[in-house]
Amino acid sequence: MSDIFVFVEHIQGAVSDITYISLAQARVTANVTGGKVVALLLGNDKALATRLAADEVLFVEHPSLAEYSYDANVKVLADIITERKPGMVIFGDTSIGSDIASGLSARLDLPLVSFCAEIKETDRGLEYVSQICGGKVMAEGKIPAGTTLFTLLPGKFKVDEGQSATAPKVTSLTAPYLGGLRVTLKEYQEPSGEDIDISKENILVAVGRGIENEDNVAIAQELADALGGAVCASRPVVDQGWLPTTRLVGKSGKNVKARLYLALGISGAPEHVEAIGSSDVIIAVNTDPNAPIFNVAKYGIVEDLIDITEGLTAAVKEEKGG
Ligand SMILES: Cc1cc2nc3c(=O)[nH]c(=O)nc-3n(C[C@H](O)[C@H](O)[C@H](O)COP(=O)(O)OP(=O)(O)OC[C@H]3O[C@@H](n4cnc5c(N)ncnc54)[C@H](O)[C@@H]3O)c2cc1C
Repeated sequence: MSDIFVFVEHIQGAVSDITYISLAQARVTANVTGGKVVALLLGNDKALATRLAADEVLFVEHPSLAEYSYDANVKVLADIITERKPGMVIFGDTSIGSDIASGLSARLDLPLVSFCAEIKETDRGLEYVSQICGGKVMAEGKIPAGTTLFTLLPGKFKVDEGQSATAPKVTSLTAPYLGGLRVTLKEYQEPSGEDIDISKENILVAVGRGIENEDNVAIAQELADALGGAVCASRPVVDQGWLPTTRLVGKSGKNVKARLYLALGISGAPEHVEAIGSSDVIIAVNTDPNAPIFNVAKYGIVEDLIDITEGLTAAVKEEKGG
């Protein structure tokens, strides 16, 4: 009857999508363990609990938890986990989730499954699937007894599967002493507003290292123009300076929620995939049939991206009457 805890990640007053995705995974897992789904909300705004699909929300209120603080979060969570001994604690596989989960693992000497793609029931019991080596290796293993920590990748569940129309029961807990924090947030720095905001675009043509050179980015741009969308990129493309950082999708860039996300020559590393899981339809074009991007894509094309892009652009232009 072990409970599944989910850490509620929130930034600037909004719950991150990965939290709802984690709650959906927790529900499936709790149905196997027979335990409860418990959300851990650390902050100063109880209203963030409203849409969490959890049996209970443990709310710890403190000004030092309003914005992200590693020290404050780890201190509070260490106390809760030690006292309540859940079977699992799920964090998002994000910068914040990885930061806290690794710190807790070291502090409490608990096992941590990073890059977790799925927790599933098998005839051997509950097992994890972890997407390691930049997504090239899928490691599977049995979940040990006691408390295990996870950082979960998006892909398996949709955001709305972890949302509820009825507000959950919220239990307030007293925060421990949170003075003397080593690092505190001074301000958020938004990227310069001189470019479009890819997180608001409905149609995105994303280019990865497979695009090969800067000149080829123009081919993707032509398709985006024909579709009425925008071009964005994975990190190698931005690192090369072929597109500005405002177009970067992923852990170090932006999360996107496109209606159509066309991934051209992108392998599907966890740091990229975590930011595209809320898109409605992902189509991937890749010459490697085993590229992990196909695990999250609704449609996949194993072909050279230049051929497909030029063909698609011509077809879209023809459909739109030249
Ligand atoms: C802390 C940290 C933060 C990171 N943040 C980000 C981030 O925000 N965003 C991000 O994207 N990455 C990020 N990364 C990097 C990430 O781990 C990957 O290295 C990166 O996403 C890989 O980019 P890619 O898929 O374009 O390149 P690759 O992994 O090299 O994949 C290129 C793909 O193109 C395919 N291909 C090659 N030629 C063709 C062709 N002609 N036609 C079709 N397909 C072709 C190949 O089969 C391959 O699958 C981060 C890494 C770290 C450690």
